[in-house]
Amino acid sequence: MRESVAAVVREAGTTFTVERVRIDDELRPDEVLVRVHAAGICHTDLTTAATAADEQLPSVLGHEGAGVVEAVGADVRRVRVGDRVALSFASCGRCRYCDAGEPSYCVQLAPLNLSGGRPDRSTSVADADGTPVQSFFFGQSSFSEYTVTYERNCVPIGDSVAFATAAAMGCGFQTGAGTVLRALRVRSASTVAVFGVGTVGASALLAARIAQARTIIAIDPLPGRRELALELGATHTLDSGPGVAAAIREIVADGVDYAVDCVGHQAVLTSALESLAVRGACATIGMSQGWGPNPVEIDLTDVLLRGITLQGVLEGDSLPQEFIPELISYVADGRFPVDRLVTEFPINRIGDAVAAMRAGDVIKPVLTFG
Ligand SMILES: [Zn+2]
Ligand SMILES: [Zn+2]
Repeated sequence: MRESVAAVVREAGTTFTVERVRIDDELRPDEVLVRVHAAGICHTDLTTAATAADEQLPSVLGHEGAGVVEAVGADVRRVRVGDRVALSFASCGRCRYCDAGEPSYCVQLAPLNLSGGRPDRSTSVADADGTPVQSFFFGQSSFSEYTVTYERNCVPIGDSVAFATAAAMGCGFQTGAGTVLRALRVRSASTVAVFGVGTVGASALLAARIAQARTIIAIDPLPGRRELALELGATHTLDSGPGVAAAIREIVADGVDYAVDCVGHQAVLTSALESLAVRGACATIGMSQGWGPNPVEIDLTDVLLRGITLQGVLEGDSLPQEFIPELISYVADGRFPVDRLVTEFPINRIGDAVAAMRAGDVIKPVLTFG
């Protein structure tokens, strides 16, 4: 048993209480105990907290952890005690999608990532009174100084990158960059529009630069975000709104080859599809309705006549064990300066971090421990 500081969700909403909890560190064969140094806050944490049902509480969220391996289970081979690691999502490693290198579509995704515990419903966290607290959120529940995760969540990151920079590799950064480099496979000299310049959109436009896209148009309602997009390498920026598809065609007359929808609601998706060139492809990433249904209208005649593609993308179609080291190499050579997106908050200021994120004042708040 190990004492740890953790941010606990006790009721549905966006309030986290910082508490001392107990971590059961008797590891199963495929588990790893990590001392978390940094953990990013993702919109999915806030959506999950806001919509939590009573039977999902109390819980520890967090799915963008980075830290040091403290102990490993008997069968763990990929990481050793003392390794610096980023934590990504959990996957089974045995299904057809895991076999194909597409673990974000693992058939066990829900029980491993969203069930509030191990697939057998056990948890590794208890509060000060000994009451069980749900854990293993995305297999990691990293809003905790110590956490038990699975071997497959752990990606060694070497010594070159700071924990606060590495934290969001496990979700936000790989989602944006992977959508461009893995899912859409953006070609050099192509044209790209990115709708929404948050963590995912900013990562997507940095990746579009890495892919040597010729024209990169960033669309966001906030002037500060548009300014940042230009600094990160967008060639053009536009305010969002109903005229945006026409404005994109003033820049690229035939429309863009690729659109990345980081928002996920009707107006943005309509603009994204309208902005596409013939045979263009749009990736949609945003979970504007959280885990609930998100029905939208699409003009199928238009989809068919122009031969366009709409593609859903989870976690950037990344194989984290390969893609995160690749992204870290881009950090090292200056092409993926995601440290510019990060604002650090000590864990006991998680309330301020959430407020700043919701106000749009920060892009990627990262909690730090100790
Ligand atoms: Zn996330
Ligand atoms: Zn699987």
